[in-house]
Amino acid sequence: MNLPKTPFYYYDITLLERTLQTIRDVTQEDSQFCVHYAVKANNNPLILQTVAKKGFGADCVSGGEIKQAVAAGIPADKIVFAGVGKTDDEIDFALQQGIGCFNVESMPELRVINEQALALGKIANIAFRVNPNIDAHTHQKITTGLNENKFGITIPQLIRSIKEAEKLEGVKFCGLHFHIGSQITDVETFKPLCECVNELQTLMEENNIWAPSINVGGGLGIDYKHPKQHPLPDFEAYFKIFRENLFIRPGQTLHFELGRSIVAQCGTLVSKVLYVKEGVEKKFIILDAGFTDMARVAMYDAYHDIENLTPETQTQQYYDVVGPICESSDVFAQHRLLHVTKRGDIFALRSAGAYGEVMSSKYNSRELAKPYSTQDFDLDAILKEQ
Ligand SMILES: *Cc1c(COP(=O)(O)O)cnc(C)c1O
Repeated sequence: MNLPKTPFYYYDITLLERTLQTIRDVTQEDSQFCVHYAVKANNNPLILQTVAKKGFGADCVSGGEIKQAVAAGIPADKIVFAGVGKTDDEIDFALQQGIGCFNVESMPELRVINEQALALGKIANIAFRVNPNIDAHTHQKITTGLNENKFGITIPQLIRSIKEAEKLEGVKFCGLHFHIGSQITDVETFKPLCECVNELQTLMEENNIWAPSINVGGGLGIDYKHPKQHPLPDFEAYFKIFRENLFIRPGQTLHFELGRSIVAQCGTLVSKVLYVKEGVEKKFIILDAGFTDMARVAMYDAYHDIENLTPETQTQQYYDVVGPICESSDVFAQHRLLHVTKRGDIFALRSAGAYGEVMSSKYNSRELAKPYSTQDFDLDAILKEQ
């Protein structure tokens, strides 16, 4: 078999299943834990179906994602819906589907959900997304829990907001929601979040408010530097932080919304070398993949492991690895030590399973790269044949 047209995404479904099973295993004793997969990290149908088969719920941030999650077999009552700008149509669709919970980010949104639920003769479960003003110590473009961010309501507004929600007949208050940021590699960062939840639980109890569920969002990071050595994040340490620091009340459920940590390592962006060019001071490898296929480097200065899968020699040298798009930001790596490379070599950009394919665009009138998986062919075997 020949290699498909490059660039393309290649998903290792076996690794995805192993990742999902590890989460199941390390939370086996925690009957109150409910793990939702954050669909925005990767909405590929095969990935969603694999997540659904393992019994996970979904965290969606648009009506389109709810539709995809339901189509993949995730039960609607295991779907939560977040987002600062839910449209009337999206709210309507979510109500019709009977999703588990709306994570409400403002009072105007609460009133709209209430009105639409009443019009449909339904009652919407709602949680308030609280902005805990906690620094996630991550890249500024992926931090979400600081006062300066647009997400959620503030702590001083919380009790008043819940009291107002309790007066509305189309909504039922069912808990608190948080999400402090993404690519958080030090799990200790989640401790202040646990403490914040504990304080708010006490505050709610003082005000005679019962919250059946607490949702701590996602954000667990992965090892972009060493994807092969660490294909799985330390889920054990992550869940332990919450188990030991967040005091769940009897009968309460604790929800998680993991995106990147579930899918990032199962994806590879496979690309072909178009040209190797000598600059004044640098050598450039020009790939047929660009930021239209993987935006993370241009957008967040992200690091991705890059490998020449078909080197002729073991000798290495420094290169800048760039894409073909007419923007100076279309650079995947600078001064990266790689095997000596020639035109036609096949490259792998690792850890491309999260925020890769979902962020692709047709800028420069480029075709979208196709997704394949281990169920379609064995990439290593094809490369060996060539
Ligand atoms: C993006 C997002 C997540 C998932 O974040 P990861 O860092 O990929 O785990 C979870 N919850 C909400 C509300 C989000 O917006």
